[in-house]
Amino acid sequence: MHNQPKRRQAAEFGFRVTSAHSQHNAAHLHVRSNANRPLRVMKFGGTSVGDAERIEKAAEIIEAAARHSDVVVVVSAMSGVTNKLLEAAAESEAGNSESVDLILRELRARHEQVAGVLIRATVERQFVSRQMRELFRQSETLCQEAIAEHRLTPQMRDSIASLGECLSAPLVASALTERGLTSEAIVATELIVTDANHGAADPYMDATRERCRARLRPLLQRGVVPVVTGFLGATSEGLLTTLGRGGSDYSATILGAALDADEVIIWTDVDGVLTADPRLVPQACTIPEISYREAADLAHFGAKVLHPKTLRPVMQSNIPVWIRNSFTPEHAGTAITSTGVASRGGEVKAVTAISKARMITLGGAGTAGVRDALGRAEAAVSAVRADTWLTTQSGLRDEICIAVSPAFAERAASALRGEFASELTQGQLDGVALGASVGIVTLVGQGFHHLSEIRERSLAALERAEIEIVAIGEAVSECNLSFVVTPTDVNETLIVLHEEFRLGQLDSQALPVKVL
Ligand code: ADP
Ligand code: ASP
Ligand code: MG
Repeated sequence: MHNQPKRRQAAEFGFRVTSAHSQHNAAHLHVRSNANRPLRVMKFGGTSVGDAERIEKAAEIIEAAARHSDVVVVVSAMSGVTNKLLEAAAESEAGNSESVDLILRELRARHEQVAGVLIRATVERQFVSRQMRELFRQSETLCQEAIAEHRLTPQMRDSIASLGECLSAPLVASALTERGLTSEAIVATELIVTDANHGAADPYMDATRERCRARLRPLLQRGVVPVVTGFLGATSEGLLTTLGRGGSDYSATILGAALDADEVIIWTDVDGVLTADPRLVPQACTIPEISYREAADLAHFGAKVLHPKTLRPVMQSNIPVWIRNSFTPEHAGTAITSTGVASRGGEVKAVTAISKARMITLGGAGTAGVRDALGRAEAAVSAVRADTWLTTQSGLRDEICIAVSPAFAERAASALRGEFASELTQGQLDGVALGASVGIVTLVGQGFHHLSEIRERSLAALERAEIEIVAIGEAVSECNLSFVVTPTDVNETLIVLHEEFRLGQLDSQALPVKVL
């Protein structure tokens, strides 16, 4: 078992890498890995590998880390690429071959251009170009198939969507090779074994652990830096799956847990987990340390900085996860640990928002008499794998409201109609109604010991700002408190609550983490 002090070792590697690749560095980096070297999994998000310059920067960060530790790199697709690929998939299904051609042509030109800038060695550049051509050819074939049949299976969509990571991994590996490191790009279908839930697959950890150890350990022992495609895996039969949008964070912690890494570092475009999304609340500031629980709640309630499932694989083994900014690597970022650190000024640590959700209401005078209505409603919705944010039952128990992601709203509503078919027919329930879009703004903290006080303060502040509350949701654990508002009020609600709990002021924050 790892002890805590050993695990709190973020950022001990200085990032003042000035000269790129001296002979001395190259020789040093080829020293065989040994048991004393910590193992770090480092994930670089889309903007952190968005163009040749960003890939160079990522390579510089990896090179610095590789001096002190074994490193397994996980990469996202270059920014915007997955969106484009999903667009190509949708256009294929609609039979629009011209749009598909255009998208693939543009993507190919962008990747070729980056390869041209990054890779000076002709043989290597030709090799990577050939690899890319073959990957594009495979994707074109898939799109043609979809166009011809006017049909796209979830598995075909996953295969098309995964192209971005399959292209970025060899580019990052080449950038490392250019710096004198030995590196190998690996497609995660070789490593992450998942269920067959295309588009939102989950790993089978035992099989994944076995594969990762067999494939990655020998590379690390030889001083090779593996660069693994984020976002994807494969079923045990070998069918490619994806882990969901933003899923490369999840890939990183899956690999971290499988390899029992000392830490996972998620390199992104902000200085860690902030008190709110800085794009919506400019006063937001970095939270130096936060617990798995708080970070998971933030991600669940809309903070895009982490894929909602990111912390699941590492919580049990206590592997710390760092969120750091590849644009400002000198900044320590945020440590996500088992305990976190309590805020100094109050219990509320951050505020987050889901800009669009749908409320489904199940109700009628007879609802209170329906056996275990709430439990059955929750089970029915989760059986269709709908993302659910809130479930509330009115005081008189004559109405149950469930807030779900818009993408799953219809499916969740028909699952409820199916579950309560006999009660609906007998008139015990009036119906299942799909409401208009709503926004959900959530306060997250260590545990709200003064929940009613926090609620009253929030309500008073929102009333002063003339923001109307549609509903309030409290977690059973009392670690979060959600306000349902109309979508147009989301930004204002975030700003008001951020200010009310003085989240943007440093003295209301936790003490900075001591970097060992
Ligand atoms: P990457 O491409 O590196 O995975 P993402 O765009 O997925 O990056 O996530 C980073 C973004 O998350 C930030 O640019 C920021 O706008 C957004 N974000 C939302 N909530 C938060 C928060 N509480 N702290 C930090 N960033 C947040
Ligand atoms: N490229 C994938 C996406 O855009 C996965 C990721 O970036 O994490 O969703
Ligand atoms: Mg992301």
